[in-house]
Amino acid sequence: MNVLIVHAHPEPRSLGAALRDVAIAELTAEGHAVELSDLHAMGWKAVMDRADFPALDPGARLRVPSASGQAMATATLTEDVAAEQEKLRRADLLILQFPLWWFTMPAILKGWVDRVYAHGFAYGVGEHSDRRWGDRYGEGTFAGKRAMLIVTAGGWETHYSARGINGPIEDLLFPIHHGILHYPGYDVLPPFLVYRADRLDEAGFEEVAEGLRQRMRCLESLRPIPFRRQNGGDYLIPELTLRADLAAPGAAGFALHLTTADRPDDSVPDPTR
Ligand code: FAD
Repeated sequence: MNVLIVHAHPEPRSLGAALRDVAIAELTAEGHAVELSDLHAMGWKAVMDRADFPALDPGARLRVPSASGQAMATATLTEDVAAEQEKLRRADLLILQFPLWWFTMPAILKGWVDRVYAHGFAYGVGEHSDRRWGDRYGEGTFAGKRAMLIVTAGGWETHYSARGINGPIEDLLFPIHHGILHYPGYDVLPPFLVYRADRLDEAGFEEVAEGLRQRMRCLESLRPIPFRRQNGGDYLIPELTLRADLAAPGAAGFALHLTTADRPDDSVPDPTR
């Protein structure tokens, strides 16, 4: 497989960077080709603004989706964005790796998504009509490819459990898993999570690193999170609401969008959980 790791950490000697290197070493040993986008090392421009659309008439009002679609269609995206899109096209598997900052990804990585996920590339793909709402949620540019997160968090696993004060980790990650990865077509693998990361000592690191190596060895066989497909018949179109017969009356929340309510794959040993 071709694997793209997008890594967001400002410190090259960080735990995150050490885990990135463990992942790369194991993937390479398994015969995969690995590309790395180390966003801080690249000096990645995190904010989407007018400079992203050099072909836009300087007097024109900036409307981002149409400017983005136009730049995509005319191949006038900036070089840094076009290069990341090429990496995504090459990759069979995308890994986003980051420390949990304020319950989500660091701004530099969100800026990578904002800028690289252009209109006509990651959204605005396929027929949009009263009968079909585009190629999204399981279909689209990245259909048939896999993606997953590697996330370190300061909090304890219990803090992120079903009754934990931070909210369940699968809910906190839902906008990334479902919105950023499944939306443009990826099959999303369960995340590799490291809790209490700030307290990790050398022995703890070795245990986590071994868990990560094991995870890197089963990426092709691991069962993805069973998100429903938009165009698979489960949703009414154009309302895009789940069919009444697929959930109990009054049922709500992110878990509705899973074909089963169970956790994705408990069979994979993960010493960090
Ligand atoms: P580092 O600081 O680089 O290292 C962590 C520990 O790992 C250190 O003790 C280090 O010695 C040790 N370590 C062991 N082996 C190695 C090795 N081989 N290489 C490097 N280090 C090693 N946490 C939450 O749970 N929820 C939040 O919402 C949240 N928000 C945050 C917001 C901000 C702005 C910040 C700064 C932190 C936040 N945190 C939060 C905590 C954050 O998630 C952790 O600080 C982070 O995940 C730790 O990963 P790191 O790579 O930065 O660790």
